[in-house]
Amino acid sequence: MSPNAETASHAPRDADFLSRLESIIGAANVITAPAEMASYLTEPRDRFHSKALCVARPASTAEVATLVALCAETGTAVVPQGGNTGLVGGQVPSARGDELILSLTRMNRLREADPSSNTLIVEAGMTLAQVHAEADRADRYFPLSFASEHTCTIGGNLATNAGGVAVLAYGNARDLTLGLEVVLADGRILSDLSKLRKNNTGYDLKNLFIGSEGTLGIITAAVLKLYPKPRVFATAFAGLRDPRQALRLLDLAHAVAGNDVKTFELIPRIGIDFVLAHEANTSDPLPARHNHYVLMELASQSDGLDARMGRLLDEAKKNGIIEDASVAGSTDQRSAFWRVRERLPDSQRYEGGSIKHDVSVPVSDVPAFLTEVEAAVTRYMPGARLVAFGHLGDGNIHCNVSQPVGADKAGFLAQWDSVNEIVHAIVAAHKGSISAEHGIGQLKRKLLPGVKDPVALDLMRSLKATLDPKSILNPGKVL
Ligand code: ZN
Repeated sequence: MSPNAETASHAPRDADFLSRLESIIGAANVITAPAEMASYLTEPRDRFHSKALCVARPASTAEVATLVALCAETGTAVVPQGGNTGLVGGQVPSARGDELILSLTRMNRLREADPSSNTLIVEAGMTLAQVHAEADRADRYFPLSFASEHTCTIGGNLATNAGGVAVLAYGNARDLTLGLEVVLADGRILSDLSKLRKNNTGYDLKNLFIGSEGTLGIITAAVLKLYPKPRVFATAFAGLRDPRQALRLLDLAHAVAGNDVKTFELIPRIGIDFVLAHEANTSDPLPARHNHYVLMELASQSDGLDARMGRLLDEAKKNGIIEDASVAGSTDQRSAFWRVRERLPDSQRYEGGSIKHDVSVPVSDVPAFLTEVEAAVTRYMPGARLVAFGHLGDGNIHCNVSQPVGADKAGFLAQWDSVNEIVHAIVAAHKGSISAEHGIGQLKRKLLPGVKDPVALDLMRSLKATLDPKSILNPGKVL
């Protein structure tokens, strides 16, 4: 990407651009009215203020390819967008108003379900919830899972290499993909919808596009891996003293239940308090208060899971790892447990400003890392409230900092970069990552050169220049 990507104009060098676009995808699918564009321009955290030339809504890969070829010819920037649920501003354009938003939501068809190969071929605009439904129809399971599944699209999930609450057992989006169809920056179509589990014929191109946040190509379809459907679940909420005990519980869970440990989420008491205070239909999962909690779910094809969960919790109690625990006795109780975890991210908005960190460190480092972060953040800002929760099993903690009670929100948020710096320095000391699952987008773009190996960054820039020489694909993101 050219160094002036932020300021250079990406407007089409053709006065007939919009009419040519309309002839490709139909006038009804080219949105230019500000009121109709609004929902494509605002993002969930309201941090980025965007404008667009138009929103284009193609219905097929051929339309996407022709559209991108037109953009390449006219030098028009393309910002691919799925369900617009991204948290780092990767899916919205700059404030200049000269970029085209390419919404993939009309491309939401199932192309093929193949239960024997354990694969599903879907178009990029299918919602994650719909992918789950299609897998279910094939009597299979697609494990990628997070709270935005009814809105987010599989194309966006792949473009950001999304993670979520089942990574521990099944891996992230990258691990769940066998093949891709991608429209390249010159309008060519890379057709690599391979269902093969074994294919050693050169470079693994799909993994360049997965996680590239739309900067190297536009994912239009994918071959997803399916798994046997779990027949039984055992879901528990455990109360414990600190993250060190939570780590001991994780080790014990793996010893007792092996790969059946599907979810292992750490939740601090302050997170439970936020959810109970601000979210309807929630209740305290355990009768007494505990400093920390773990939401743990086991999933299996075979019976006897309840007995194993019981054995696991008995042993944890006997060894002083947990203070108390409750196992969901019904699907309603299981949903209630999950609701506490799912409402936690949103509940923070009612407590004033929240400075976000989506970080990962080696799993064994999580307890020490959290102790150091809490000490450093409260030293910098007495009264700041650490709300560190998330995927302990993956070493990925959403290490958010809520403002002190009664503080001025704007003044607190003005400390965003300073607090980031404090937390990211501790991440670096533990050889961790400043973006575990949300991506780089616009939010962390300026931080990337400071944390990425210079040779790796140089290779990334070379790949960008090769695959998108005119820098029309999602400029100003990632690099
Ligand atoms: Zn997460």
